[in-house]
Order: sequence, then structure tokens, then C-alpha cells
Amino acid sequence: MRVGIDLGTTFSAIAYINPKTNKPEIIKNRYGNRMTPSVLAFVRDTCYYGDEAKEYLEHGYPDVVSYFKRNMGNDEYVYCTGDHMYTAMDLSGLLLKNIIAEASETIGEPITEAVITVPAYFRHKERKATIEAATKAGVKVLHVINEPTAAAYAYGLNGSTADKTVLIYDLGGGTFDVSVARITGEDIKILGTDGNHELGGKEWDDILARYLNEQFYEEFGLEISNDLAEANHLLAIAENLKKRLSVASSAECSISYKGKTGRYQITEKLFEKLSNNMLQVSNQVITRLLFSIGMDRNKIDGILLVGGSTRMQMVRNYVTRLIKKPLLNGVNVDEAVALGAAIKAGMDGELLDALLPDLSKEEKERREYEFKLPGAKRLVETIAHSLGMISVSEDGNWYVNSVIIKKNTPIPACNTRSYRLKTTLGDNELFVYLVQGEKGNPLDCEIVGKYVFHGIEHTETCEATLLVTYSYNEDGMIEVSAMQQETGNVLPLTIEPVDDDMSWVREVPNLNNSAKKELPKGTLYLAVDLSGSMSGYPLLEAKKAIESFILKLDLTKLAVGIIGFADRTSIILKPTKDLYRIEQALANMRVDGVKFGYGNTATPFSKVYEEVIRRKKEKKEKQEKEYMILLTDGEWTYKENAIKEARKCLQQQVEIVALGFGSADESFLNTLVSKKEFAGVTNLANLTQSFTKIAQIMTS
Ligand code: AMP
Repeated sequence: MRVGIDLGTTFSAIAYINPKTNKPEIIKNRYGNRMTPSVLAFVRDTCYYGDEAKEYLEHGYPDVVSYFKRNMGNDEYVYCTGDHMYTAMDLSGLLLKNIIAEASETIGEPITEAVITVPAYFRHKERKATIEAATKAGVKVLHVINEPTAAAYAYGLNGSTADKTVLIYDLGGGTFDVSVARITGEDIKILGTDGNHELGGKEWDDILARYLNEQFYEEFGLEISNDLAEANHLLAIAENLKKRLSVASSAECSISYKGKTGRYQITEKLFEKLSNNMLQVSNQVITRLLFSIGMDRNKIDGILLVGGSTRMQMVRNYVTRLIKKPLLNGVNVDEAVALGAAIKAGMDGELLDALLPDLSKEEKERREYEFKLPGAKRLVETIAHSLGMISVSEDGNWYVNSVIIKKNTPIPACNTRSYRLKTTLGDNELFVYLVQGEKGNPLDCEIVGKYVFHGIEHTETCEATLLVTYSYNEDGMIEVSAMQQETGNVLPLTIEPVDDDMSWVREVPNLNNSAKKELPKGTLYLAVDLSGSMSGYPLLEAKKAIESFILKLDLTKLAVGIIGFADRTSIILKPTKDLYRIEQALANMRVDGVKFGYGNTATPFSKVYEEVIRRKKEKKEKQEKEYMILLTDGEWTYKENAIKEARKCLQQQVEIVALGFGSADESFLNTLVSKKEFAGVTNLANLTQSFTKIAQIMTS
């Protein structure tokens, strides 16, 4: 049996084409539920999954893992339990294995093949990790399709005949995807896709949990988020409250902690006010997408909502207000993705081949779609991220991302470019750094792989012409090949890991860099406020500013570490000169009530102090400079303590710069820094500029 699997951030679902009805159907789990929570709990020697694991989570059991899909393909992420370490891919494999076994039992047939869905925004690494997870779980992956596309399939089967341009708004538990599709009588054509990996129902839960935490603190002076188990429980209360607010204009909850009980009433209006930033972030993604495909909002005929979080009334109202077009009915927001994947799995040509071997290819293709599922359509998908390679700019001054296949090109896609290479008598090699992303600076994109082509023959002119071909297949997987024009030889290829240190990309190609400014050397700690008020838009802006700042540094000389703080302080990234790791850590940095709490009771200085002392002890040679940049958006609870701890760092010659925004207090920040001009308060819009100024100060 082949099935469609929606491996979701919060819930997963499996569907198949029921041979009796010839229709896609969800396969229920052993509790009769149509979706299974994507949660694992490690209890003694047993790994529980789904509904049982979620129960452990809600009761505050500590060894429970959820939201691991957000870390698919991230080498930095591991979950440790007992003697075991799991990557997000391992965890997904464990979950899949269990839910597939359960589904097999329900339908009474072994499941051997599957179409699996991923957020449209997933890149090569994340898609590869998803395929590996399914393979580990024992199924052959027929195809990987994008979640909004799967939803469009499910919608396409509705029988509506009128041609339509549809905006697919997919807001799940952990990710947000948006696609524009043209659905006609026979085809579904995806015109473009965009998304945000850090926006999902969880952000709404966090906002409510933080609000409840604050209310409780005001009433009883007790901080629930300081207690890990209670913070998890509070999140479960918040999620429940959120769901009730989807059907009622107000809802009440009671919270008990340390013998005190508080009752809180939340109205839909208040909830919407608290979440307004997140709705705006989704608008930014839609605007960016429509701009990139050159489409006006009024060309959209209808909106297809997908993902559990689109049940929130505020989301439905916001999108209809924004696009001014009706919501399309006929798909279940939770089930559409799995059903669409099942349709794709059911549309395989093998059966048709066996039954009607003499049909022409075109006829077969046409019939393939109608054969098993009346009404099913052909799909034309597009590329979500441009594909390019690191090349030297025309003026020879920079390394740039030279795009070879543009974002939103229909797939399968293929493009060839020719390159000239100087050859010598020895072994000639060509290095191709494959880049995924649109930005001109390769370091602003993802460097996916290093492709090394060998066996380039020396020519009489000492120059070879190499034809490099990029192809992108239906599943979103990438292939790179090369041929030498003079010989017609396809060049043998080895794929190597991307260099740990890619900082050469920032240097001037082939020129000596003596004219370059002297950039700071040593270690820089970035201490980022991750209290609840940073949630959503502020943190997104802060990340952007920090990222552009990092690119101005010379990472061959300066190691960067990241520290997060709120009610607790934790090192997010140990100092490193590896830009990729810094960018990954930044991308994964988030407000996390369980890890950091939501308030402002902790300070990052003691962690920096500990680190500086430890490093001083370890290193006998002359000390390098230590810097700390503090980014905060609010007032702190224990100011005196912060000042005391900052002094200890200053005594160790740590150069401290403090940048505040929002309700930050400049006079307080002044007391923490090395020199008066090292403290400043700005606003979110100017954050990038302020960081540029810091880079200038550090340089001078
Ligand atoms: P998905 O990833 O599509 O399964 O969506 C899961 C997300 O949808 C979680 O954040 C849930 O809390 C959220 N969700 C599910 N049902 C509702 C509801 N009735 N109202 C609001 N959010 C919901």
C-alpha cells in the first residue's frame, strides 16, 4: 500500500486512496483520532509517541520532545536522553515508524511506499533529512511534495470547474507557507511560493502563555515560567484557551501554582491585539511573494486556508481583509495536506502501464491523472529558492551569487552555463559552490554543497570551456553536472562538505587585501534579550540587524558567541569563526519560555564573566580582546545586580556595548558599558543602522 504522509510540526496525518471507494481518506490512529501529535516522550526504556507523549508533555514530564521538525537538516541540533543523542531526522524517523505501523494495522496491509509533504520553504538539506527520516522508518519515498501544493490537490478534487487563481495560506503549528496557484480544468500550476519558518500556532501559544504569566505575577508575585514543568503546563493551558477563542468571543481559564489560583478572562479582541505583530509578519510574506511573481492582489480569485492555526478567527478575518476575496470551502484545514499527498501517491503510472501498455506517452500522462481519481489534475510546481553558484562579480571586486535557475521557475527545471578555466599539465579541477537563495551576497544564502569536478584535460590554448548544468527535479532535489566542451567528456564528480570557514567569500577575489580596514580581533559575545516581549516582529528585526552586522566582521580574526537571557541565561552558541554555524544559531534563536522564561530577571554578564575567566585560565599566551554587545528591549528587574555583574566584566577588560530599543532605559544602559558612547537606545527600524555604527566604533 502506498500512502500520503503529512509530517507536521505539531501533528502528523496519514491518508490513502481507499480501494473500495476510490477516494482519498485519512487513516485513523489507534485511538480513532485523525491526527497524531508529533511528540515523543522518553520514559525509562520506552519511547512513547503521539497522543500519549503529548499527555506526558502536558503533565510537565521533562523528557519530552516536540517541534523537532523546525530543526530538520540542522546539524547543530541534537536531543539528548539517557545515553542517546537524536537529530531532528532521527526523531522524525522514530515518529514516522510508529505512526506508519499503526496505520498499517488499521488498514490491514503493510505500507511500503509514501509521498511525504514538506513546507514549500524547505531547502535541499531539510528535504534530504525528511527523505532520510522516512527511509529510516522503512518506507520508500515516491515523492516529496510541498504542503500548499498537496492542499491544492485536495482542493482540485472538489469538482469545481471554473479556472481560478488561488492564494494558499498555510499556517500550521510551527511554520507558515504561502503559495499562489492557478487551478484550471486540467492543471494545477504553482506560480510562486514563500514562507517563514518561525511563524506558527506556537507563537500564538507563547504570547498567551506570557500574558497569563504576567497576570499571575501581578496578582500573586509568583513567576510560573521559572519552573520548567509548570511552564510546559502553562503552554498547554494557553493552547487550549487559543482553541476556545476560535469559536467564542471570550474564554476563561484558571491557573494554579504554589497553592494560589488565578482566574483570567481573555477576549478575542485582546488576543488579537497581543498577536497583531504576527499577522503583520504573514502580510510581509504575502507582499514579498506577490511582488516576486509580479502579481497584483486583485488578480487573486479566492483564498484557500490550510493548517490548524487558520481556525483562528483573527487569521481568517485578517486574510480576507487583506486580499478582499472569499475563503474557498471544501477542504479540511487539518487534513488537506495528507489527503493531497495520498492523491499524488495514488496517481502513480505503474498500474496504468500494466493495464494499457500501448498508449502514447502523452496520452498515458493524461489518462494517468484520470485513471484512478476522477477529477485529479496534472501539477506544475515551481522552485521556491533560486539556485546559483559562487562566482566573481563582473568588476572582479566581489564574490557574488550568480543565479542559474531563478526562484519560481516551473519544475523540473534545468539550466546550463559555460565557464572558462585556465588549465595546466597537472590534474585540473573545478570547484562549484552551490548556493540556494536570491541574495547577491552568497553568505546571505545557504551554501548547499561543494561540487568538485575532476579530470579536466589540459588544452592547447591552456583554457577549457566547461558546461555546468543545474537541474532541479520534481521532489525539489538538486543535481549538478559538468562537461568539458573540447573533449565532450562528462566530468567525474565528488561532493564534499562545505568548508567550515567560508570567510574568504567576503574577501576581494585574487587581489591582496592590504587596503582592507583593520577589523577587531578576539572574541565577541552577543547577548540577546529573549524575554517574552521580543516575541515575533522585534526578534525578527533584531536577527536581521545582527546578521548584517556579522557580515561586516572579519571572522578570520574574531570569534562570535551568542548568549540568550530572560529569566535564565544560556549560551546559545559557543564562540566560533564559522559563519554558517553563527547564521544557523541566529536562525534558530527564539523566545522560549521553557528555556529562558519570559521576564527580565536574569542578566547575561555572569555568563560572559565565567567564560572570560575560563578562557584566560586555558590560554597562557597574550590575551586577545573580548567584546560584548548587549541587545535588550526593556527594563530589567534586578538593575543593581546587573550593574555589579557588568563591573566584574569591565574589570576583566571586556569592552561592553549596550544597545536598547522599545522600552529600554538609556541611563541604565550607560551604567553597564565601558564608555558613555557605547550605550544607546534606538528603535526597531533603525536597528541595522545602529549595528553598523557599532561595527564602526569597534573598528576605530
Ligand atoms: P498543523 O501543524 O496544521 O497541524 O496545526 C497545528 C496548530 O494548529 C497548533 O498550533 C494548534 O494549536 C493549532 N490549532 C489546532 N486547532 C485549532 C483551533 N481550533 N483554533 C486555533 N488553533 C488551532
